[in-house]
Amino acid sequence: MSTNNFTGEKYLTRRVLSMQESQTMKITGLAKQMKAEGKDIVSLSAGEPDFPTPDFVSQAGIDAIKAGFTRYTANAGIPELKKAVVEKFKRDNDIEFDQNQIIISNGGKQTLANAILALCQEGDEVIIPAPFWVSFPEMVRLSGAEPVIVPTTIDSGYKMGPEQLEAAITDRTKALILNSPSNPSGAVYSEDEVRALMAVLEGRDIFVISDEMYDQIVYGAVRPFSPARIPEMRDRVIVSNGVSKTYSMTGWRIGFLAGPKWLIDACGKIQSQTTSNANSIAQKAAVAALTGDQQIIGDRRAEFQKRRDYMYKALNEIPGITAALPDGAFYIFPSISGLLGKTFNGKVMNNSTDVSEYLLVDHYVATVPGEAFGAPENLRLSYAASISELEDAVGRIRKAFS
Ligand code: PMP
Repeated sequence: MSTNNFTGEKYLTRRVLSMQESQTMKITGLAKQMKAEGKDIVSLSAGEPDFPTPDFVSQAGIDAIKAGFTRYTANAGIPELKKAVVEKFKRDNDIEFDQNQIIISNGGKQTLANAILALCQEGDEVIIPAPFWVSFPEMVRLSGAEPVIVPTTIDSGYKMGPEQLEAAITDRTKALILNSPSNPSGAVYSEDEVRALMAVLEGRDIFVISDEMYDQIVYGAVRPFSPARIPEMRDRVIVSNGVSKTYSMTGWRIGFLAGPKWLIDACGKIQSQTTSNANSIAQKAAVAALTGDQQIIGDRRAEFQKRRDYMYKALNEIPGITAALPDGAFYIFPSISGLLGKTFNGKVMNNSTDVSEYLLVDHYVATVPGEAFGAPENLRLSYAASISELEDAVGRIRKAFS
């Protein structure tokens, strides 16, 4: 018998040890557990729409099963779905791609992981403005490269300016990750702002990974603009998107990546040796979503906007909390700096994790601490919940800090 104790960090790779567990998943898990124990939890921590998958989309999945469409597909996705994605980019984003510039993957998460693993390695730096979506720095670390975080503030609407980008660039910079509309801040970069950032990259060998997962969940004040629309950038912009948020299809796991063919092929190589094609049934459902009646997007957007307006007003009325108006996605990301250093119910609020834990444990409201997104003085609240749930949550938060 071995005398070794086969547990612990001794055996794990540097690669995995350098990563952190997803904080959003962690708090959602804890909230679910408290709910299962019968506690009356209001959850504003979810990163997914509360609406169901549209019926016509689910039906396409059922039809696919009944038709026996249940085998391996082409690694990069079925031609029908690639065609639908090409048409989506033309229709919604005014960008032309060929079908061979598209790969279908297991959610937006896999498209991004593939792109980062194909482009980045030890010695490379990747610029990520904060607040950022939790997985960006971890995926970069997994690739062996180093994330370079550029903090932003509420005064700039949580957006990075061209001077900040310029200052973050070194001769090791391999890529910039942009996410507009942003999870967690809801910030949307305007055309002028995107053009100003891209001007900084002119003449430099730096790639842009543009995560446009929330491109259809926007409220009109600022229209999103993809850097792929700038002709001079076309050979080094990779666009990641998917059906998860737009069509309430988070569990179906379909994402798509569009960019230079050589890079899409490289992502295909990684995917072919790790997961193979995305789920065949879900691919058929995604075709239905992308080519069917798009009215549902507008209806849901209008509902999200009502909730956003409510949350913006209600949160700003609570002393110690200051929120910027989000232009997209379904999150609001208030600064809670006015609460830090204070004591509530005998608990000192040193950072956003303390605030989030206090809200969950003492007042049964689940939120996500800004630390997870590189913004320790903020809290992420998802308004993918009914107005009555939001009112309930805000009432509890108001009470918690009174
Ligand atoms: N990018 C962003 C900014 C996201 O918020 C998410 C989902 N939380 C993803 C990508 C991943 O999406 P998917 O569920 O399709 O993997």
